[in-house]
Amino acid sequence: MTETRNNWTREEILEIYNQPLMDLLYKAASVHRENHDPNTVQVSTLISIKTGGCPEDCGYCPQAARYHTDIEGNDLMSVQQVKAQALRAKSSGSSRVCMGAAWRNVKDGPEFESVLEMVRTINKLEMEVCCTLGMLTENQAKRLAEAGLYAYNHNLDTSEDYYKDVISTRSYEDRLTTIDNVRKSNVTVCSGGIIGMGENPEDRAGMLVALSTLNPQPESVPINALVAVEGTPMEDMKPVSIWEMVRMVATTRIVMPLTQVRLSAGRTQMSREGQALCFFAGANSIFAGDKLLTTPNPDMDEDLEMFRELGLNPQKAFAKSPQPSSIAAEDSVLAPNGEKPGWSRPGHKIERNESLRTKGKSISESLD
Ligand code: SF4
Repeated sequence: MTETRNNWTREEILEIYNQPLMDLLYKAASVHRENHDPNTVQVSTLISIKTGGCPEDCGYCPQAARYHTDIEGNDLMSVQQVKAQALRAKSSGSSRVCMGAAWRNVKDGPEFESVLEMVRTINKLEMEVCCTLGMLTENQAKRLAEAGLYAYNHNLDTSEDYYKDVISTRSYEDRLTTIDNVRKSNVTVCSGGIIGMGENPEDRAGMLVALSTLNPQPESVPINALVAVEGTPMEDMKPVSIWEMVRMVATTRIVMPLTQVRLSAGRTQMSREGQALCFFAGANSIFAGDKLLTTPNPDMDEDLEMFRELGLNPQKAFAKSPQPSSIAAEDSVLAPNGEKPGWSRPGHKIERNESLRTKGKSISESLD
């Protein structure tokens, strides 16, 4: 097993990222094989349990209420609806369900109680349960853990430097605080980011520094390629090349050897050969299902065919950490504690989003 380091520097990571591709692939594939079965890939299904109407201003996201996109919003789904979707996902080979709600942060109350019940219900189906609900207090993290949550997703998105160009309604520090709150429970951490938002390789390396210096490192790191959605400030960004994606996956694998590296948004823009290269470079997880929250994703049959062609096997649930127990609501020893978390509220600057839109346009014109 490769020794995990928590002191990577930006310079070291850039040197890895920029080395000749064949050397990078060889090194990443070697680290991957030392720590994982290279023919096993974890399959997760993402369910958007509450879509759209989000007060945040993430420049890439069609769910932000302030952008004019054509997504259909919905209120929080019922526990039964979520259970039905989870059962379908399980029968198609998924071992994990990730439930996403377009919230700034979790608020104590009936909706959170419903999410806790969803967690208990899916955990009983012997599937790993992950949630991505926005910012979270320590008490809320512990309540999710008590309900049987396996993982919590909270992406850093990009480097701390570039973050301010992508989101202005909450700070990088808030993100790290939520991850820290999750770490105070026994829930595993899933945190990654997006490439193709106009950032440079230094920013990509900066994000990997932020993730790899967390101690322990996140158990799961999703790498997304931006899906530029009309109506968002990033609508004109050009898709990243497969070589950038392969480099990012390989570098992530080298600096976080034990982590599950997940190919997330952007797979529809990648050929099967491109995805195979990513698996070779150390990706060992995908999101399945024809939609990722609101953006397109390959359909399940296509993925099953790709698995057959490449000789890949879906990873069994709880292969990396044991199944958490679920405490029933009536036996719970934890209750809402009325905590006022005091998340930052940096002033929203619409000009910032305008400058991002201009940047997207000028990048796209320079590539034409
Ligand atoms: S990424 Fe999440 S927090 Fe940001 S606008 Fe979209 S739903 Fe809201």
